[in-house]
Amino acid sequence: MKDVPNILWLEEIRKEDIISVGGKGASLGEMASIGLPVPRAFVVTAQAFRRFLVETGLEKKIFSSLENLDVEDNVALEKAADNAKNLVLKAKMPAAIRDDIKKSYKKMGDELIVAVRSSATAEDLPDASFAGQQETFLNIKGEAALVSSVQKCWASLYGARAIYYRAKQGFDDHTVNIAVVVQQLVHSEKAGVMFTSHPITGEPETIIEGSWGLGEAVVSGTVSPDKYVFDQRKETVTDTYIANKKVEIIADGDHGTKIAEVSKDRQDAQVLSDAEVAKLAMYGKIAENHYGVPQDVEWGVVAGTIYILQSRPITTIGKKEGKGMSQKSDAKVILKGQGAAPGIASGKVIIIRDVKDTGAVKEGDILVTRMTNPDMVPAMRKVAAIITDEGGMTCHAAIVSRELGTPAIVGTRNATNQLKNGQVITVDGEMGFVYEGEIAPKPSAQAPAAGQVVAVSAPIITATSVKVNVSIPEAAARAAATGADGVGLLRIEHLILGLNKTPSWYIVNNREEEFIKELHDGIKIVLDAFPGKPVWVRTLDAPTDEFRNMAGGENEPHEHNPMLGWRGIRRDLQSPDQFRLQIEAFKRLWKDGYENLGIMFPMVSHPEEFIVGKEMMRASGVDVENVALGIMIEIPASALMIEDFIRAGIKFASFGTNDLIQYTLAIDRNNENVADMYNPKHPAVLTLIHNAIQVCRAYNVECSICGQAGSDPKMATWLVEHGITSISANIDAIPKIREAVAKTEKRIILEAARTKDAE
Ligand code: PEP
Ligand code: MG
Repeated sequence: MKDVPNILWLEEIRKEDIISVGGKGASLGEMASIGLPVPRAFVVTAQAFRRFLVETGLEKKIFSSLENLDVEDNVALEKAADNAKNLVLKAKMPAAIRDDIKKSYKKMGDELIVAVRSSATAEDLPDASFAGQQETFLNIKGEAALVSSVQKCWASLYGARAIYYRAKQGFDDHTVNIAVVVQQLVHSEKAGVMFTSHPITGEPETIIEGSWGLGEAVVSGTVSPDKYVFDQRKETVTDTYIANKKVEIIADGDHGTKIAEVSKDRQDAQVLSDAEVAKLAMYGKIAENHYGVPQDVEWGVVAGTIYILQSRPITTIGKKEGKGMSQKSDAKVILKGQGAAPGIASGKVIIIRDVKDTGAVKEGDILVTRMTNPDMVPAMRKVAAIITDEGGMTCHAAIVSRELGTPAIVGTRNATNQLKNGQVITVDGEMGFVYEGEIAPKPSAQAPAAGQVVAVSAPIITATSVKVNVSIPEAAARAAATGADGVGLLRIEHLILGLNKTPSWYIVNNREEEFIKELHDGIKIVLDAFPGKPVWVRTLDAPTDEFRNMAGGENEPHEHNPMLGWRGIRRDLQSPDQFRLQIEAFKRLWKDGYENLGIMFPMVSHPEEFIVGKEMMRASGVDVENVALGIMIEIPASALMIEDFIRAGIKFASFGTNDLIQYTLAIDRNNENVADMYNPKHPAVLTLIHNAIQVCRAYNVECSICGQAGSDPKMATWLVEHGITSISANIDAIPKIREAVAKTEKRIILEAARTKDAE
């Protein structure tokens, strides 16, 4: 560490240098290292700051003045902060550091205009951005101004808020450092955003939006941008839409930005040439390949040179940031429900009251129905969005829409009555709002300052596995593109219900082989997408009412409450033929060499069911001791008896909270009348989960979650704190779950280290 020079150029920086250059510097270095045209930059390293403190003799002075500070005493805190800041600002920067900064600045270009940004680091937490004030100075020109800005960034480490925060978090001031990024400021002549793959379908179609001036105009929705679609498979621009661009955002002298009118001749002119679109799409692909997931990229062009200003994983439109159309004052909300699958889409309403009418559904329509069922999946694939009267976050429409990447709103109560066929509406599947008319969505990114580069999120490695749920094999590629650590739940009933014939139909009609093949082939698609990673396939769990509409379903019993009825492992054990067909498909897959295939029994209520199921598999020739066999914890009984299940030989257990909540609280999960009471964080539910996790930990048995609650970052945080081994979430939730898991793990380590230090 001592040998780190005062200056590191972007090209020299690697992820591992984060301790010297902070998060911002490291992410810029990472982007540059993969060949993206990032605006030129160098970093004044954390070690340069240390040398400054030592050589000027400030280290002792500052630290002793902060040592016995009572940070709750505002006056004393402000005084100490001012004193420390002044010491840093007034000290003469050692000549060697100053010369290095000046030399590097000269190397960047003559009197280049730069942005100077601080980036705090700490020995035990390299990217300690929160531990220091994030000071930024834009439009800096000339050596003297640059040197003084660097010193101002250093001084910002001793802002009152930063000192207070560090004291409260138990940060040792001795270990906190600060790096300073000096970067060419890009005053884009044209700029915009790019989704490296289609943000909803995940198809290899790069979508680029661009307009004149700074990218802020596009990001903030101030202007309707041009839109370009680049097909990565055909390597060609397939769609160009030229908008009328009346205004642009440009730099306002040295002070921020202003909105200006676009000259008449440029208003309807095409912003990007085909060659520029292709080049941008290529950069997008590089970023996507490197980070392993589709990226949301900001770009700018100056004097014919394309710059990549920011790259981060595509996220859904965030509620908290107030993004999406809910902000649009002139947009009229005509209906509300539960946002079940994120995304925004406009289209014409088509109301489907009977599944036999789905033939009328056209590409791009908005499907409105009481509730979807497996027969509707082909139509669901075509539509731009889905709205249902009934259902909650775990109903058929919600699960399938999320996997198809189609925006969906469920539980609106009366969409089928309130909306009219042919009516044009816009659906916000995140917020659960339906708007009148066609409203263009805003991109999800936040407006950056001119030339700003925001940290790229490198692939996050977590000790807790973050897996993904899959229900339809065609979602396997999208699921794998998230970089998930495996599949924590593959529901086969969607696959089987999609066949439109019950397993008993295949048995009665001597068509067993067909059924086995369908099952084998469907599961194989998912296994192929996750080579070497665990894929837990759940045995059939379809309630009788879902079977009734299928061929062979005529004899399904009419149950008073199918949710509590003949489903899950209890039905398989009583219908050995149906179970046998599934086992046969699994056996063939193991024989094909898919050792990563694990089998999970749903709706178990007693260890005896697991024992009998396992014995039936053994009797069918499965090497049951050497394959991963586990259970879902969906019934309070199985949570309470987890130790007995472990003694019975389960290799893993996974919380099916969708059912666990409904059976613990007596709340029908699909009934919108009691949806308000459906509470994943109910103390009784949490107690069941907590206790079961502790038992699994004691026996070293993998404990996971695959219910919808695992897709909520707050719940994921709670689960990691309570010792869960893995979390399996919906495809769209993986980035935010991974982030929540990583943060929680870091915090736990940090707190443990602090406790140890204090002892
Ligand atoms: C659950 O109950 O949480 C679960 C994942 O299973 P399903 O939603 O298919 O009932
Ligand atoms: Mg369930």
